[in-house]
Amino acid sequence: DAADIGVTGMAVMGSNLARNLARNGFKVAIHNRSVGKTEAVIAEHGTDGEFFPSESMEDFVGSLQKPRVAIIMVKAGGPTDAVIDELSSLMDEGDIIVDAGNALFTDTRRREAALREKGQHFVGAGVSGGEEGALNGPSIMPGGTKESYDRLGPMFETIAAKAEDGKPCCTHVGADGAGHFVKMVHNGIEYADMQVISEAYDMMSKALGMDADAIGDVFEEWNKGDLESFLIEITATVLHHKDATTGEPFVDVVLDQAAQKGTGAWTVKTALDLGVPVTGIAEATFARSISGGTPQREAARGVLVGEEQQLEIADPKQFIDDLQKALYAAKLVSYSQGFDEIAKGADEYGWDITLGDMAAIWREGCIIRARFLDRITEAYDRNPGLSLLLSDEYFSTEIAKCIPAWRRIVAFAASTGCPVPVFASTLSYYDSVRAERLPAALVQAQRDYFGAHTYQRVDAEGTFHVEWTEDRRETKQD
Ligand code: NDP
Repeated sequence: DAADIGVTGMAVMGSNLARNLARNGFKVAIHNRSVGKTEAVIAEHGTDGEFFPSESMEDFVGSLQKPRVAIIMVKAGGPTDAVIDELSSLMDEGDIIVDAGNALFTDTRRREAALREKGQHFVGAGVSGGEEGALNGPSIMPGGTKESYDRLGPMFETIAAKAEDGKPCCTHVGADGAGHFVKMVHNGIEYADMQVISEAYDMMSKALGMDADAIGDVFEEWNKGDLESFLIEITATVLHHKDATTGEPFVDVVLDQAAQKGTGAWTVKTALDLGVPVTGIAEATFARSISGGTPQREAARGVLVGEEQQLEIADPKQFIDDLQKALYAAKLVSYSQGFDEIAKGADEYGWDITLGDMAAIWREGCIIRARFLDRITEAYDRNPGLSLLLSDEYFSTEIAKCIPAWRRIVAFAASTGCPVPVFASTLSYYDSVRAERLPAALVQAQRDYFGAHTYQRVDAEGTFHVEWTEDRRETKQD
């Protein structure tokens, strides 16, 4: 009698994933560096299903059915490397090691290459949905070989969340680090989504003087339309919540500093390396940095003036309607940028990623689950080679309806001194990407001046350079 699958790392994520597997009828080997956590899982949840607890890694590996599948759910970074080494040394050719933690995809690529040398499979699997998702059905994004997915996929698809059409929110994303890459971008989009929702809240609070409860009502209403999503839903809940100590709206007693664990920054750094503009995600990530108790914010307080205009809002209902449209538009841009990054990553690293499937496996289980993800799947079904998600007929039509409102909101925010980094940067991106002509012409001319970087002409083929410091004659380069 052997276990179907094993999980090492019995902190909150690992134990919940193991319980989810056990509840779905799999025999699950469990292990943790310190034995106490393993014992606690058995004591508290042993009746969830069939567990094979082990105190040592040797026994853990020994309890697994071949080819073995062991999931690692330990602290990211060094600890994950240490556990991979330990596991790998005890495993055989054809066995599968899964890192279901949050790893940087380049680490996953490195680890996969090392294990491939030994004939073992390494699968970096993105798991979204937090603790609750791990227990009741996460969205799972596994990379690695097709062969490893044949063994692992059916188990993951069983425990994953199910979308409305019954399909599991799990699919083989692509080779080596593809799963962790897609999970990274998922988190980046999550950053943008959360920030732009908060900007809408801020505008209602500052421009309309609404209290948290009233703003919560608006989000609750929005959750019935195109914006329907987990994040809008929890925003309404959070805004309606009262602090237990003071009875004040909870959001009003929370310090305005948003922390980060790094996946937003990874998404942005990777996008910079790939040359993909993800301005919404970048501004959302920087917004957390600005908030995070920085010395700059302290230094600016009371020193930098705003010269804000006091603008009257004649029709608050219209203003809220504008905000809803602006939010939808900014959100569409953020998602479009995220999908562009996935497409570019796939190109760069040779992953065969079906973009529509990524939207499909985000429909349930994960933090960015939302009604409009179906539309993204449909757009890529219509045109798998879509180079700009926004240019899809459905999205370009949807966003067109939002533009006047979006401009009014950004203009209002700028005039009244309300910071809206994601509303504004996504609008700028939209205007840039659709522009007939960009001021990049001047930038390239400047580059030619000081660096002889050459330029192309609008009216002739070839590459040119002006002898700026001599007689300013134009030369054609070969
Ligand atoms: P933690 O990240 O808090 O890690 C704790 C676990 O790691 C414990 O089981 C601990 O064992 C083990 N560990 C730490 N160092 C070592 C080591 N050197 N050797 C062996 N084991 C070690 O656990 P979480 O459950 O919060 O997260 C697990 C992974 O899942 C992380 O990569 C995280 O980024 C990711 N993740 C977390 C989410 C969340 O909502 N928390 C959501 C999605 C992903 P011991 O008990 O012996 O100390």
